[in-house]
Amino acid sequence: MKNISVLGSTGSIGTQTIEVCGNFSDINIKALTAGNNIDLIEKQAIKFRPILISVMDNEKADILKERLSKTVCSGIKVLSGMEGLVEAATLNGVDTVVVSLVGNIGIKPTYEAIQAKKEIALATKEVLVSGGSLITNEAQKHGVRILPIDSEHSAIFQSLQGNSMNKIRRIILTASGGPFRGMKKESLKNVTAKEALNHPNWDMGNKITIDSATMMNKGLEVVEAKWLFDVDVDKIQVVVHPQSILHSAVEYEDGAVIGQMGIPDMKVPISYALTYPNRRANGFDKLDITKVGSLTFEEPDMDTFECLSLAYEAIKTGGTMPAVLNAANEIAVGAFLNGGIGFMDIPYIIKKTMGAYTVKHSYSIGELLEADQWGRKYAETIIK
Ligand code: MG
Repeated sequence: MKNISVLGSTGSIGTQTIEVCGNFSDINIKALTAGNNIDLIEKQAIKFRPILISVMDNEKADILKERLSKTVCSGIKVLSGMEGLVEAATLNGVDTVVVSLVGNIGIKPTYEAIQAKKEIALATKEVLVSGGSLITNEAQKHGVRILPIDSEHSAIFQSLQGNSMNKIRRIILTASGGPFRGMKKESLKNVTAKEALNHPNWDMGNKITIDSATMMNKGLEVVEAKWLFDVDVDKIQVVVHPQSILHSAVEYEDGAVIGQMGIPDMKVPISYALTYPNRRANGFDKLDITKVGSLTFEEPDMDTFECLSLAYEAIKTGGTMPAVLNAANEIAVGAFLNGGIGFMDIPYIIKKTMGAYTVKHSYSIGELLEADQWGRKYAETIIK
């Protein structure tokens, strides 16, 4: 029996994780956390009977407590805020913590979960983008495994199995190119949030869908791959593959390229992370390779999709710079979704914020969170 906590259980990855767990009788959900969706977390709690649930807002936690007190689940502990997240991340008896939060809020609970020696199944790429060296050092120190849930990183991880003795020549990180693939800067100025949210292949949360449209998502994934697999960023090549069938690949010294294919379905990487090193039969749709037609691969347009170059720049600078890139991006994407800024203002704001920042090359978790706050505030001032 494997006991898990799901941080961010009502989001896109969270709900799919719950669905996957529903099919596995040997996975037991001990804790669930959500942002503000108390209706859904209430349903999940009634179905899976965890020990602990938590939501961000204190008042909403009280409403939830009140509601659950009238059900058979009155014994479930209800918490709120960062305190609740950390408690769910470090709960006694939990083996694996699924981190599927949105953005930098995932850093602290992941850090604490590692210190409590919990295995991490990581969907929140921002955790490694901002806190890469800190999180991976801590994981190494405590002998904690970080299993990727991001589809590309799961593909790379799968392609690395059985090859620990072999040198990597290159990681091929595939990108769908998003809804604006092929477009140029001029025509991107006036695209709307609705157009940007219309992703061709993947159905995801709003923040990551905008990141896919700007290609910042791929930039963040380059940084994530660097930390997960301990490879130099120059060895990570982004390749645009609009069909999203090859989820990424590893090229070895001898020129052999080993990749993982499948239909775009996050439930596959979620299952693999939960049952690793085993694979389980499931009822998900399967790839019919004869129906796929042709698979195409092209170089990314780094000039138009400047967010991708900014991410490479941030990780090459190192230290706290990726945290600042990520913070500025979260603020800019939020402003774009609210209609406050244009699509091409997103890279502009990030670039300005990075340009104004003095990087710290060695840092504590406190300094990392300060860098994050600095990036947010600076980006907000530019928007105003
Ligand atoms: Mg991905």
